[in-house]
Amino acid sequence: MRLGRLLLAALLGLVLVGSLTTAVHADPRWVFYTKDKTRYESPWFKGAHRVMVPYGCTTAPYYSPDSRCRDQRGFHHGLDIAMRCGTPLYAPYRFKVVSNDSLGPAYGDNPLLLRNARLGWDLVIGHTRRVYVREGQVVRRGTMFARAGDSGAPDGCHLHFERRAVGGGLSTATWPRPLLALTPRERP
Ligand SMILES: [Zn+2]
Repeated sequence: MRLGRLLLAALLGLVLVGSLTTAVHADPRWVFYTKDKTRYESPWFKGAHRVMVPYGCTTAPYYSPDSRCRDQRGFHHGLDIAMRCGTPLYAPYRFKVVSNDSLGPAYGDNPLLLRNARLGWDLVIGHTRRVYVREGQVVRRGTMFARAGDSGAPDGCHLHFERRAVGGGLSTATWPRPLLALTPRERP
């Protein structure tokens, strides 16, 4: 009986700590421009996180009006995923780190431009805080290569994932979600 109570107290404590941790990890600057509240897992990052700004026409105020969008909306060329600063990023594929010189300041101080010519993509990752790989390096599958941050991001810690054609610029950006392989987190 006493053991049962102890176990129950321990369990409640764990639940409490769990919810507190979640609250601490939320970033007060986050604004979500989607109704989707699903937390997604991806082989590219640790944990499960919400989409903040989807790819395509958006009401988010950071983008200038685009002819593809109605009501003066802007076009978001990537997919933003909210995750606390420091969240590790992993390489689900082998890729090469390409020069990021062509990327403007909106992507942060040290954004990544990754290339897998065989699979036919470039991937820009914006707002990284720590980057553990350098230009010219071929990164092996499974490598933890960077951490999420808020560099260049007034809207809090998140990452911007932008899929482009190999060697193509911003205008070649396409829906990045299949490359990110987002899957809803399994509920216990
Ligand atoms: Zn973005």
